[in-house]
Amino acid sequence: MENIRVQGWVRTRRDSKGGFSFLEVNDGSCLKNLQAIIDANLPGYEELTHQLTAGSCVDLLGNLVESPAKGQSVELQVAELKVYGTADPEKYPLQKKRHSFEFLREIAHLRPRTNTMGAVMRVRNRLAWAIHKFFNERGFLYLHTPIITASDCEGAGEMFQVTTLDLDKVPKVDGKTDFSQDFFGDKTGLTVSGQLEGETYALALGEIYTFGPTFRAENSNTSRHLAEFWMVEPEMAFYDLDDDMDLAEEFIKYLVRDVLDNCADDMAFFNQRIDSTILDTLKNIVENSFERLHYADAIHLLQKSGKTFQYAVEWGCNLQAEHERYLAEEAFKKPVMVYNYPEAIKPFYMKLNEDKETVRAMDVLLPKLGEIIGGSQREDDFEILVDRMKIKGVDPEEYWWYLDLRRYGSAPHSGFGLGFERLVQFVTGMENIRDVIPFPRTPKHARF
Ligand code: ATP
Ligand code: MN
Repeated sequence: MENIRVQGWVRTRRDSKGGFSFLEVNDGSCLKNLQAIIDANLPGYEELTHQLTAGSCVDLLGNLVESPAKGQSVELQVAELKVYGTADPEKYPLQKKRHSFEFLREIAHLRPRTNTMGAVMRVRNRLAWAIHKFFNERGFLYLHTPIITASDCEGAGEMFQVTTLDLDKVPKVDGKTDFSQDFFGDKTGLTVSGQLEGETYALALGEIYTFGPTFRAENSNTSRHLAEFWMVEPEMAFYDLDDDMDLAEEFIKYLVRDVLDNCADDMAFFNQRIDSTILDTLKNIVENSFERLHYADAIHLLQKSGKTFQYAVEWGCNLQAEHERYLAEEAFKKPVMVYNYPEAIKPFYMKLNEDKETVRAMDVLLPKLGEIIGGSQREDDFEILVDRMKIKGVDPEEYWWYLDLRRYGSAPHSGFGLGFERLVQFVTGMENIRDVIPFPRTPKHARF
């Protein structure tokens, strides 16, 4: 017997004829509720218990005892009870029945009180912690790259602009916006990736990683895209593409194993309620090596698959979600790392192979999800890099600082970017990326 205090929110109350009330209380620390028993002889019983409807908040003091009934191992015998806040049962939106995820998105402020969102957020938290642990154990330095940036290399079209100019009175010179009057005296936006800045620190400190918010104004209303998401971007000096792929594989396995070891209850819940194959899928990931496949071989496989894809497959095309999923889900039934992509479809900073047709790029594709990681060995040759910039319409003058890294003490180096919400989605089996981040930002949706 143990005297404890519990503060939490009532999920349900049931009154028995024998002079007791049973409360199910949850404080968010774990999936399971605590059963609390209130004796009708408790002073103020009548007045207090009728306030204990779903959603109300209580403070309970009592003895934690072994439960005689099945369903729970312990229960709380309440000795003192205080109601912090009631919740009108006529109005409280989270009544007992199951709600759709679409409906819950409309009450993003209350959905953390549901079993699913609670479990998602605990797993998300564990994954964030495990990411830091993984890199810390390997001596990587956690680097904070800027969120506001004036370089718009990759995401020209995808960048959110940042300005303090009055949009009703934009200053102009020669018909064009005069950014010299803007806050930074420059056209600025929200970062689409911390990679380029990450490279500068990798080429001084060896192995670094970033883990921060990333913004893309891409108008893709899919179940795997957010306008604001979190990205993990390790960048390592002296790593070639094979080292990069080794790290990516080790990383994903480590994270999955960590969640299986530390979030057993929540994972059992996902397996039962969300996706009955999720535990098997995750065990399979930990136990088997990832397939590594040349882009050219991936194209062959897709062409031979006998499938009709919406997007035609030929050498030189971008792999679409349907192609990615076929490779990981059907062809290999495990994670696939596709590498050596055609240079024409990849950015300027990826290292050109000797064939001059392909670059040392790699994507990690997962069953059900598709792409979770995109990475590459970076071009470390000054001349080739300048050429590639010109071909891609990137002004070398603007990237003088990036080119300096190849002018002074250049070194082979590599890195990748992992979408954090895609990871949470994959691990929990949740179908929609909007349901694995507290407040999703998507086209036409930022209010809450
Ligand atoms: P996709 O082709 O799936 O749109 P991408 O190739 O544009 O992704 P990268 O630029 O390679 O993405 O970014 C690295 C990783 O960041 C991706 O592998 C993915 O996990 C994640 N990511 C990219 N865009 C988004 C987004 N809009 N929302 C959530 N995660 C994203
Ligand atoms: Mn990519």
